[in-house]
Amino acid sequence: MTSPAHGNPHGSDRSLSAAVHDLVTAIEPISGYHRVALRAALGRILAEPLRTAVSVPAHDNSAVDGYALRHADAGHVPLQRVGTAAAGHPYTGTVGAGECVRIMTGAVVPAGADAVVMQERVSRDGDAITPEPWPPAGNNIRRAGEDLQAGDCILEAGRRLTAADLGVIASTGRAELNVKRPLRVAFFSTGDELRGVGEPLGPGEIHDSNRYSLYGMLTQLGVEVLDLGTIRDDPETLAGALRQGARDADAIVTSGGVSVGDTDHLPSLLGEHGELLFRSIAMKPGRPVTVGRFDSAWYFGLPGNPVSVMTTFTQLITPALRRLAGEAQRPARRMRVTTRSPLGKTPGRQDFQRGRLVEGTDGELEVVSVGHQGSGVLRSMSEADCFIVLPAERGPVEAGEIVEVEPFAAPLIA
Ligand code: AMP
Ligand code: MG
Repeated sequence: MTSPAHGNPHGSDRSLSAAVHDLVTAIEPISGYHRVALRAALGRILAEPLRTAVSVPAHDNSAVDGYALRHADAGHVPLQRVGTAAAGHPYTGTVGAGECVRIMTGAVVPAGADAVVMQERVSRDGDAITPEPWPPAGNNIRRAGEDLQAGDCILEAGRRLTAADLGVIASTGRAELNVKRPLRVAFFSTGDELRGVGEPLGPGEIHDSNRYSLYGMLTQLGVEVLDLGTIRDDPETLAGALRQGARDADAIVTSGGVSVGDTDHLPSLLGEHGELLFRSIAMKPGRPVTVGRFDSAWYFGLPGNPVSVMTTFTQLITPALRRLAGEAQRPARRMRVTTRSPLGKTPGRQDFQRGRLVEGTDGELEVVSVGHQGSGVLRSMSEADCFIVLPAERGPVEAGEIVEVEPFAAPLIA
């Protein structure tokens, strides 16, 4: 229970979806961008809509190895082979009545021809060619512009560029493009009990694991990270770390110190020296999340519990940082599957339990709980490959019921 003296930050919990919406609306994307070579654009965010000045393919060309012919010659067989068209070596003449041209995949369809027959569908006697059966008009011809039309917008601004996108851009001949500058994110852990990896533990101390999971998630999001270390639960020191983060980065992400305990200083620091947007969300794990601004930076204060850190980062901080980085929003994919495990749940908060997708006997996907769902059991995240997303108002779930799952996102290339 929270005492009146502390206020009750949980009293007016907002839903996660409302928090994401408000945050994404409030955040203005960074404006900086730079020009990079095509390969360096992989995983980066396109800073402008990309148009193509050329059509792809540029010419009608053959989809197969065979013979280019005039469809109107139907029945007038055999055709006389008068030349060859190979990829990169067009036939320069015109195919006349009763004629055909040997053609290879990717070769320009010669003037006069309007269909191509596969070589497996002809009988041959020297240069006398008889298609069997006669092909329909347009057969096996890839049309100019069927992939991209000159003038088309091929990719929208805000797109995170994929391997396929790089290929599409290359097909238009473009060698360089403008991408958003990387977002800079400072992060630190808070807590007097924390020790770094490689350090021995004193009584009551634990190793700082959040700084490692956060490092991983931030890096996989394609941002530049600035690790400010482990900060003690001291308001002055914390304020100093916030100031440094705000000076050197676009956003600050912290873990711990945002709840209602006596050593949870960050919400009041933000209230006094920054701007506090909200400090509680009706989600589990991860109810205390403090969001606001500190100097010129966005501030995201995550709870200390390691599973809460990863859950709130995925559900709230990821869309916020994507928006700040200039990336178009793309809601996480969710799907409905049968749960094999019963799931404990009390009505009140939206729950993100950890699960693993498995193949059921009928080949359909099912989900199993990874077991212990405590917000301190980080192993549950490591063993899971999806969140089982249970609505706030729901009670316990029985095995065999349909639930919504959100597979963990594949890491991006930084
Ligand atoms: P707090 O939100 O600061 O009250 O922390 C909640 C719980 O998470 C406590 O048990 C902390 O010891 C633990 N915790 C906080 N920060 C970290 C961290 N960086 N790594 C591992 N556990 C942490
Ligand atoms: Mg703490």
